[in-house]
Parts: sequence; C-alpha cells; structure tokens
Amino acid sequence: MANTAPRVASLLYEVEPGAKVDISGWVRTRRDSKHGFSFVELNDGSCMSNLQVVVNADVPGYEETIKEMTTGSSVRFTGDLKESPGAKQRVELHAESLELLGTADAESYPLQKKRHSFEFLREIAHLRPRTNTFGAIARVRNCVSRAIHDFFQERTFLYVQTPIITTSDCEGAGEMFTVTTLNPSTDGKPVDYTEDFFGKKASLTVSGQLEGEIYATAVGPVYTFGPTFRAENSNTTRHLSEFWMVEPEVPFCDLEGNMQLAEDFIKNIVKRCLDECAEDMKFFNDRIDKTVLETLNNILKHEFKRVSYTEAVELLVQSGKKWDYPVEWGTNLQAEHERWLTEEHFKQPIIVFDYPRSFKPFYMYCNEDGKTVRAMDVLVPGVGEIIGGSQREHRLDVLESRFEECGLDPEEYWWYLDLRRYGSVPHAGFGLGLERMILLLTGMQNIRDVIPFPRTPNHAEF
Ligand code: ATP
Ligand code: MN
Repeated sequence: MANTAPRVASLLYEVEPGAKVDISGWVRTRRDSKHGFSFVELNDGSCMSNLQVVVNADVPGYEETIKEMTTGSSVRFTGDLKESPGAKQRVELHAESLELLGTADAESYPLQKKRHSFEFLREIAHLRPRTNTFGAIARVRNCVSRAIHDFFQERTFLYVQTPIITTSDCEGAGEMFTVTTLNPSTDGKPVDYTEDFFGKKASLTVSGQLEGEIYATAVGPVYTFGPTFRAENSNTTRHLSEFWMVEPEVPFCDLEGNMQLAEDFIKNIVKRCLDECAEDMKFFNDRIDKTVLETLNNILKHEFKRVSYTEAVELLVQSGKKWDYPVEWGTNLQAEHERWLTEEHFKQPIIVFDYPRSFKPFYMYCNEDGKTVRAMDVLVPGVGEIIGGSQREHRLDVLESRFEECGLDPEEYWWYLDLRRYGSVPHAGFGLGLERMILLLTGMQNIRDVIPFPRTPNHAEF
C-alpha cells in the first residue's frame, strides 16, 4: 500500500477519467442493485464528498466480500476512474479488485445513517471525526492553522515557542492549574512548594504573552501558537479549560497598529477558509447555520468599527434593554453586552478600546486620562469576544506604580521590568482563541465541538 496514492479529493476534482486508481477508505453507505452490481460510497477524509465505486458481481471475491462492506468498514479498491453518467459526481470508480480491510458490525457501530445529536457525539469523540460535520471541522482547523502561520511568516514574524509550564501568572489572577509531583497533603498543612519538583509553585500557562514580550523586544515581531490552560469554572459554550491561543507581539507598535493587525489577521483567515475549504464551508452554511457565509462575507467587506469603551457603555445604557448584569461606566462588559453590540447594534465586527484600568491587568499602557488603559477587544457576531489585546506599558515608573496599584510584587517580575530598564520600546500584541475563530467560521454553537478532545470542568475523556 502506497500512502502517496491520490486520495478521494484529488480523484473527484483533479485526476482525469481513464486513470488507474488504488484507493482505500471507509464505507459510508452501500447499495446493491438487483442487476448484479453494487454502489459503494467511499470516504477517506480528504474531503466531504464520497467517491462512488461501482462493483460488478464479476469482480473476483464479490460474492464473499460485498455483504461485509457495511457502513464504517474499511476497504480498498483498485480499478478505472470513469466519467460518471450520474449528475451528482464528475467521476466514479469501476472496481477491478476489492479488499475488505476491517469489518464494522452493523448492529453495534454507532454511526449509522441517521443524524446524531452533538451531545451524543461528544460521548464518542473517538468516532465523531468520521461524521461529515467533524471531518469538516478537522479540515477547517487545519486550514486555519496553516493560514495563521502563513499570515505571520509572510510578515516576517518569528514563531516563538513559549513554555507550557510556567512560574509566572500573566493575568495576576488565580485561574491556573498547578503542576506538582507532591502528594496531596492529608494533614491540612499548607503545601510547601519549595519541596516540589521545580522548587517553587509551577502552573500550566494561561498565556505566552510575557515571554513573547521578551522575544519581541529582542528579535522583532513574534507570535506564539500553542495550548493554553485556564482553571476557571465557567460552564459556557465559549470556554474550554484547554484551548489554543495565537499571540503576536509587535515592537514599535501602538494600539492603532495593533487593531489594524488584528483586523487584517481575522480577514485573512476568513478569506483563506472560504477559498480553500469551499466544500466544507458550503456544508456548514447548508446544515449548521444558514447565515454563516453571509456573516463571513460581510466581515470581509467592512472595516471593523472602532468603538471606545465609554461610547459602548453609553450605547448599552441608551438601548433601554434589561440586562442580567447592569452596565455603568467602570463595570466590565459581559457576554450579553458584547453580543448585543456586535450582533444587534453594529451588526458587524467591532473593536472596543480604552477600557477602565480598574479591571484590566497590570501590563496595559495607562492613558493620560488616568482612568483608562490601551486595551482592545475584538467582538464578532455569533461569538462575542474573539481577541483580547493591548498596547503594553513600556514606561518603567508607570509600570512600577501599576504593580503597586494591582497589589503585585514587582520582585516576582524582575525580568519583565528589566525589559523596561534596557532599551524599552512601545509595543503591543493580542491573543486570539483558535476555537472561538472556528466557531465564527463554522457557525457551530458549542466550543466543545470545535476542538478534537474538549476539556471542561468534570470532563477530560479520551
Ligand atoms: P472571556 O472574557 O471570554 O472569558 P478573556 O477576556 O478571559 O475571555 P483573554 O485573556 O483576553 O480572554 O484571552 C484572549 C482570547 O483567548 C480571548 O479573546 C478568547 O478568544 C480566548 N479565550 C480566553 N479564554 C478562553 C477559554 N476559556 N476557552 C477558549 N478560548 C478562550
Ligand atoms: Mn479578554
């Protein structure tokens, strides 16, 4: 078996009729005609569509094998690619040999033709990539990952690998998973982390930003792209305990430059997906969310609207809506507010900027008004917040006073302060949640369904 043989996608769309073909995959369905032949719909995951294989009863082994070619079984065919008389496909395969590689018991195989709920499929995450929906999501995730690297590589950003195990807490918040080899304390005494593997308390990273800044202020624009962990107990359709984040960090860049980069970045990914995953995207529009292509084309067409936090709060107050979380200047925007702004009021992506410093982290650049920081969130219809970022505080004295204001120990961040002591420059960056991007692109409703193996409170199967 040669793993370089053309796959179904190229047989369907590229290879000319007349070619000799050797193809392996899984049976989606089989129909036996009374006239002594069978149609096998073969899928190999290279695209959504199946290859139709026509198997005549005179193909050696037909009698013994064909009945076992049930939904889910793995098979191999050789034969001739021919123009298809049917309107549904350009070509079909006329089998000359058939081989059953692995059976799939029709009684017990869970993925029979009927549609299954996403909740049920989550319980069989080892089989769900064999469905149309999850196959398409896997291909879109792959396309997005490549587009992310291409976008930054074409702009001379360096890909930097920041640590997954960290001893600094980027957000200054307590939402981290501890990494330890100590046995759980049974006597109620506080854990002594100096006895632990790293000699101090270590955690899984919540962001690669601070380490990204180290490289951005040495080698120029950089980006990280890796797993990120948050131990927040938020059981929403937008939060995972383990997700993938892309974090560019750019020296000699202010908030305006940062907003433009974020806008270009999102548009570039959307365009790549529409161009390269057309078949999968059509599926999402037909079967998952009838508005998804319209939303994406709309995103490409318009400038993302820039709205200051102060303006956003005014709009929310004036809306006359009853909010679960009341809004006034100084409170953080909640998902319901973000969704209203982007979905109902502006009906397009917006970038909210200049948030109150009271609820934003220490590293954001303080504005002259003494009240706000140069933070930005990109909000998109259907998802809400997809990007969070800021211009960073690069002035040593201001940063030191912010540490005090936030109740943080500057000693712990001595190396971060060094970046301001030696050759400090204005710089900015943001974080994009990969899974939120996939929600936007696919119209899927639950973030658990756009990552292969979701981790959420009380769930870490497979
Ligand atoms: P939210 O307010 O939605 O909880 P956040 O403000 O805590 O998000 P940031 O710290 O700004 O998030 O992280 C940057 C980006 O990472 C977010 O804009 C979002 O796309 C993504 N993200 C953050 N937390 C999660 C999570 N728990 N699961 C999936 N993606 C996330
Ligand atoms: Mn945020």
